[in-house]
Amino acid sequence: MRPEILFNVFSPVTSLTGIGPKTANLLEKLCGRTLLDLCWHLPDKIEQRTVYKSIQEANSDTLATLIIHVGDHHIPRSRKQPYKITVYDDSGMMDLVFFHAHNDYLKKSLPVGQTRLVSGVINKTSTYTQMVHPDHIGFPQDIENWGGMRPLYRLTAGLHSKTITKAIHTALNTMPKLPEWLPPEFVENKGWKSWQESLNQSHHPQTIQDIESTSPTRERLAFDELLANQLTFALMRRHGRKHEGRPLQGSNLYADPLRAALPFQLTKGQEDAFATIKQDMAASKRMIRLLQGDVGSGKTIVALLAMVTAVEAGYQTAFLAPTEILAQQQFQSIKKLTASLNIKVALFTGQNHGEQRKADLEALARGEIDMAIGTHALMVDTIKFNNLGFVVIDEQHRFGVDQRMRLIDKGKNADVLVMTATPIPRTLALTMYGELSVSNIMEKPADRLPIKTSVLSINRVQEVHDSLKRVLDKNEKVYWVCPLIEESEKLDLGHAEARYKILKKVFKDKVGLLHGRMKNDEKDKIMQQFRDGDLQILIATTVIEVGVDVPDATVMIIEHAERFGLSQLHQLRGRVGRSHLESSCLLLYDTPLSETGKKRLAVMRETEDGFKIAEADLKIRGSGDVLGTRQSGLPEFRFVDYAHHLPMIAEAQQMADRLVDMDPFLKSDQGKSARLLLHLFQYTEAIYYLSSG
Ligand code: ADP
Ligand code: MG
Repeated sequence: MRPEILFNVFSPVTSLTGIGPKTANLLEKLCGRTLLDLCWHLPDKIEQRTVYKSIQEANSDTLATLIIHVGDHHIPRSRKQPYKITVYDDSGMMDLVFFHAHNDYLKKSLPVGQTRLVSGVINKTSTYTQMVHPDHIGFPQDIENWGGMRPLYRLTAGLHSKTITKAIHTALNTMPKLPEWLPPEFVENKGWKSWQESLNQSHHPQTIQDIESTSPTRERLAFDELLANQLTFALMRRHGRKHEGRPLQGSNLYADPLRAALPFQLTKGQEDAFATIKQDMAASKRMIRLLQGDVGSGKTIVALLAMVTAVEAGYQTAFLAPTEILAQQQFQSIKKLTASLNIKVALFTGQNHGEQRKADLEALARGEIDMAIGTHALMVDTIKFNNLGFVVIDEQHRFGVDQRMRLIDKGKNADVLVMTATPIPRTLALTMYGELSVSNIMEKPADRLPIKTSVLSINRVQEVHDSLKRVLDKNEKVYWVCPLIEESEKLDLGHAEARYKILKKVFKDKVGLLHGRMKNDEKDKIMQQFRDGDLQILIATTVIEVGVDVPDATVMIIEHAERFGLSQLHQLRGRVGRSHLESSCLLLYDTPLSETGKKRLAVMRETEDGFKIAEADLKIRGSGDVLGTRQSGLPEFRFVDYAHHLPMIAEAQQMADRLVDMDPFLKSDQGKSARLLLHLFQYTEAIYYLSSG
């Protein structure tokens, strides 16, 4: 399937000569499996090393490379003192200073009377010059390699800067020249270079501007990424959706009694959203609509009303939730709300097996189940619907494009409602769906009080413990969230478990622990006990992040809040303040607090408005803020920097549309090149559409 010209691009990192399995492992962990992944690991800093003609000329506090003559070695009397070597040239002298040095090594590499090259940070006072632990000691002929700009790469423990630089630069040399997929005049107008040259230049920055996302090379790479993304949607629109949508006309047979049974009035935002959705559903055009509403704004009930409307029209519906806990929660609440209606609801998660599942699967395929609630398990091939007409995807950012499409394709052009609490700028939404309409629920239910948010050093955790008793006395509930530490599930659990042990001593069997590695039925049990009030303090890892709804939980404590992204903090805080009760959120931080960390916490204290928070999130997030991006719910791109590249999305969309209009199966020269682009970014579903033509 993959064109020959790209074979080498996707060779494993291990295929590079001189890379042992251990280094390969580290490189894979950091960058990815293939040579392309290596080349896509762009430098994030540069280092300037200056070759100076003499010791005298060298500026203090710079990275200096010098050719020197070696003078006396001053061997220290005790291990506590440094080993010093005096070196000199015609202009003066300085000391090379080593702590805990291997004497033999120094004697060998810097023999008295010889000429050598040293490179390192120079420190000067008016009377004394020194270089502490040179980065390099070698021969004068090395000089070429020890001056000028050098890219620096993000590293991982155990991987040296030299090693990764060498590996990347070796991989770069194997990258093929690919035929251009962008119109030449477009490339020229932008002042860009070819893909291969852009990639190459990205790894040979000359100035600090060269490693910023506004540099022409990075812009080009980002545009390619956006184009690949938009081509996918253009091809999908062209080939994927042949059928017209079908009108889903409800009769209010179920919607009316459902509404009447609610213990509250819908807000105006909810009413408006439902009205628009109903209109969309009734139209013959297929609906793809994004329902945005801050945490706690009550999106679920709007979705449920739309679902029963589809059932009234005679169709099956699916509700896709991102976690088991949420699927379970939705299932229970939907079951309760529809109990008196003639609607059959079933739960499909990874954990149901055996007879019940078999029966459910058959009933679903026969069309006897009206609403299928579930997790990723809903997307597997064994799940077949009779006539799926309406799909809800909750907390949509949890699912990849592929995954969403897999469920949606189980129906023939089913209407789709995706829900998110993280507002997505419209242009970005284009990169997630290609096209969609948007509804916003701007207000929260009227009875809600503001959530009091405070920021506190973890050193004062004892005060926090003491205050919990008052909450428990009021019969209210507390979430205590501990962070997920990347790359180490053990550590992650360590935090939560440690906190659990401490609180357990004080609050006994009122305290429960919930984490990602528990079995699902254990998780369900704990959540149920928390809901019922047998447990009043729930220590949890981020498994509770999205969607969990326990209205009488009023306190949210987030430990190591500095390790969370803004949107995740906002999501977590949204677990409280879900009723008329007064709620509070406590952000416990540990030092050192990074600048971004500080800003994030400040934003959280200042506002509760999800739209404002999302805005701040985009602003605070530099291109290097991986944490923020991963947790923000925005699509994950390699090169696209939200702060700078958003305007290119529309351009990429237009170009993709034009190309697919002219050349629907990408058979022209430009089309063939564009296929290469799709392969590079592994947009497999798009390539699938091409192979059918
Ligand atoms: P989200 O938009 O974050 O998914 P949910 O749909 O989970 O929010 O709703 C949050 C809580 O508010 C739920 O307990 C829900 O029953 C309740 N709720 C929803 N709509 C209203 C309303 N109009 N008035 C009062 N409470 C409401
Ligand atoms: Mg929700």
